[in-house]
Amino acid sequence: MKLLAKKDVPKVLRSWSDKFTILSPSQKEQGDCIFDTFDEETFTLEYRKPPMPPKSSFLPQSEVIFAVDQGNYSPVLPEGRTLLFGIRACDLSGIRQLKSFYSRDRDDIYFRGHTKDTVIVVNACLWPQNETCFCTTMHSGPYAEEDYDIQLFDMGNAFFVEVGSDIGKELTSSKAFTAFDQTDAGERIARLKHMAYNSISLVPEIADAMDILKGTGAKDSVWDHFGRKCITCGGCVYVCPTCTCYNVVDRIITIDSGERIRTWDTCLYGGFTREASGHNPRSTQGLRLKRRHEHKLLYYNEIDNQGALCGCVGCGRCSDYCPVHIGTLEVVKAIVEQTT
Ligand code: SF4
Ligand code: SF4
Repeated sequence: MKLLAKKDVPKVLRSWSDKFTILSPSQKEQGDCIFDTFDEETFTLEYRKPPMPPKSSFLPQSEVIFAVDQGNYSPVLPEGRTLLFGIRACDLSGIRQLKSFYSRDRDDIYFRGHTKDTVIVVNACLWPQNETCFCTTMHSGPYAEEDYDIQLFDMGNAFFVEVGSDIGKELTSSKAFTAFDQTDAGERIARLKHMAYNSISLVPEIADAMDILKGTGAKDSVWDHFGRKCITCGGCVYVCPTCTCYNVVDRIITIDSGERIRTWDTCLYGGFTREASGHNPRSTQGLRLKRRHEHKLLYYNEIDNQGALCGCVGCGRCSDYCPVHIGTLEVVKAIVEQTT
């Protein structure tokens, strides 16, 4: 086991930036902290769960996927290698689910290009990031059990460092990482994990809601109620680390050249399911919300049982940011209270 002094973190990231594009927590003037290209001026270790997950590192909000010029087609594939520094365990679980989605039916070369050889450094949560965290219910946190290269545990002035892969071992071989070989090191980290796990006190009735959805389904009045409130801003989808909806649009540049662009979309927009005839099988906002939450709580697990409980990793962002309080926490509560 190793230790990394916090004061040495910028130096370490600087040394890694020769090999990788480093995305790390960045404090913006406007007050938000986001994952952005490493910049010592804005880099911070004083951050909680950023409002946006690191999803856009792998699935940009908008990206050109191929270009056509005078009849010649050329895919635009991502280049370089990314190191994601300081993501939370729930967001790592979100990345795992995105990977599963984008390789399930066919290999998505663009998504694979973004994720290929990406190095993941998790910053384990020792306490809830805010009152909406429910990662323990979803088996996604507060620390990672697998799929990380390096995991950090905040010890005040330094991090305990756990190594999860060969590249993690290589990256932590520099002098900044000092040996921590006290005989009780393993015990201390186990105690820390135990404390972190027990600090998450929010335990929503996800399993009960899933049982209801699997059985009779939620009452229509649940979806009608939320459908009347929803202002269709799409925020809950865009902040969700596991949401994958996208659209493609073609941009004509000249008479014989153009490009195809993939952009984020959301199943909560009417146009997402509207068919060419004008018919929309999900014709109301209530039906669209029903579909979204049934997908997360029911279908995701049925078609894609990757070890996660469902298509939600318990980050709580949809409850944090929905302006009219229709996050997964509120939906689960309503399903259970109004259907039993
Ligand atoms: S559904 Fe909500 S709580 Fe679950 S992963 Fe998405 S944003 Fe987080
Ligand atoms: S964030 Fe809330 S209001 Fe906006 S689309 Fe989602 S459920 Fe509707």
